[in-house]
Amino acid sequence: MQRIYMDANATTPLLPEVYEAMRPFWIEHFGNASSIHQHGQHARAAVDHARDAIARLFHCRASEIVFTSGGTESDNLALFGTLTSELSPTKEKTHVITTSIEHHAILHAAESLEHRNIDVTFLPCTAQGIIEPAELIGAIRPNTKLVSVMFANNETGVVQPIAALAAIAHAAGALFHTDAVQAAGKLPLDLGPHGPLKDVDLLTISGHKMHAPKGVGILFVRRNVRLNPMMHGGSHERQRRAGTENVAGIVGLGKAAEIATAWLSTEGPAKLAALRDRLEQGILAQVPEAGVNGAGAPRVANTTNIYFDHIEAEALVIALDLKGLSVSGGSACQSGATEPSHVLTAMGLTSTRARASIRFSLSKLTTEEEVDRALELIPAAVAHLRELSPTWQQHAVATEA
Ligand code: PLP
Repeated sequence: MQRIYMDANATTPLLPEVYEAMRPFWIEHFGNASSIHQHGQHARAAVDHARDAIARLFHCRASEIVFTSGGTESDNLALFGTLTSELSPTKEKTHVITTSIEHHAILHAAESLEHRNIDVTFLPCTAQGIIEPAELIGAIRPNTKLVSVMFANNETGVVQPIAALAAIAHAAGALFHTDAVQAAGKLPLDLGPHGPLKDVDLLTISGHKMHAPKGVGILFVRRNVRLNPMMHGGSHERQRRAGTENVAGIVGLGKAAEIATAWLSTEGPAKLAALRDRLEQGILAQVPEAGVNGAGAPRVANTTNIYFDHIEAEALVIALDLKGLSVSGGSACQSGATEPSHVLTAMGLTSTRARASIRFSLSKLTTEEEVDRALELIPAAVAHLRELSPTWQQHAVATEA
């Protein structure tokens, strides 16, 4: 059985070209990029080459890229690295604004700030999952030092008005960070000094969400933004992130960035959106009492999050898995959790409906045949689970009466 993978927001496979680019850097070219001999020089040149490719994807300077171990580290570095001097209990309290729909890498880091002399405001979202600029304007205080709002949500794919939010933060004298893990490689991100994202000071990327390996990521840090390292050690990454560079991982991320740059200028994004729409509309046409979470909001092309009333998402994930289709009930880190999704409940879903929601996330490798096969499997699995559902039986009786 050929398995179908529709969980690209959890992770993506390496593209073969990415793997080929990385391969020599484990065995032949294994040097430490800080060594001055030929082995080291070769590794350094490869890291520089990758940095340039990534800078081209994001229209920024190579020197503004800090390599990290992934999205979680970059998010933590953005918060703790800009707020180091504010953490002392003897200082006057500072204020940070983030949102109630962030990934746990931001949410839990922000909660930890709350125990360390920082007031944190968690902005609410609309029923569509959007953070309204007016909410940010209302929350800003004279002592707001940092605003962090994610670019695209990992569960719903909803895209935030980042340019407007960043401009509001800047006008109030605060720094602006965005977790762009689910946007990178899917949307054009122009961080240039005159581009639409010119007010973004810090931006997080994770390699494994864009066909590079796990364990490598980036924090974009705009020139002149002061960032203190979280870890103490060597002077790597211009003193912003200590630790020997993951050369093979960085090379992989550089290659993935080159591929993404080319892909974004083709019909690839439109084709991906068409596949997602085919899946979404196909499900809604066949399955009653189902709907799209975040419908009508701007969304990244690969994601749809659908509720199927009268079933448990976990049971549907297992049923589809047994049929060869990998999907997820919310974010990967949440799978297995008993709590309903904090993102969907923030959007106003009841916990029952949030627990009945499934995320389908496609990638540029997803085919039309896979979508069509999924469209056979999903309605059948939902119908089967509903036959076993007491609330569905009651609902059927009530609607017949
Ligand atoms: N931020 C978002 C929006 C994510 O979706 C994820 C991963 O799911 C992360 C951060 C964490 O990235 P990483 O797995 O590279 O630590």
